[in-house]
Amino acid sequence: MAVSYWRERDRYYRILGSKCQNCSAEFFPPLYRCRKCGSDKLSDHEMPQEGQILAYTLLRDPMTGFEDHDPMPIALIELNNGVRIVAQLADTPIDQITVGSKVRAVFRRVRVNGPNGQIFYGYKFAIKNEKVNLTR
Ligand SMILES: [Zn+2]
Repeated sequence: MAVSYWRERDRYYRILGSKCQNCSAEFFPPLYRCRKCGSDKLSDHEMPQEGQILAYTLLRDPMTGFEDHDPMPIALIELNNGVRIVAQLADTPIDQITVGSKVRAVFRRVRVNGPNGQIFYGYKFAIKNEKVNLTR
């Protein structure tokens, strides 16, 4: 995971997708050829930081390295530009997660890797109008 993580960290840090220079369609993750018009003229494009929850699930017994996130809320989010993204929810009590909730991106620790404790950061989403817990 480590090598691809560092190579692609912009994607995790800034939700960096792509935008077609021909038809203005936006994509995440980024594409090299537009799925809408077929153009290969795409450029890096940062996704909006806000959207709403379309669906969610609570992941029980998460994969290795994520044991401290049990249960782990995972949501399908439609960003304000219409692009859909799957992301972990943070800062939100599980009983307050509802379909249709407005969310915003937050920068959080994603996982700690191995005994040397290498820490990976990236985006998660939090329900808006909730008090932000900066310690998590
Ligand atoms: Zn296009």
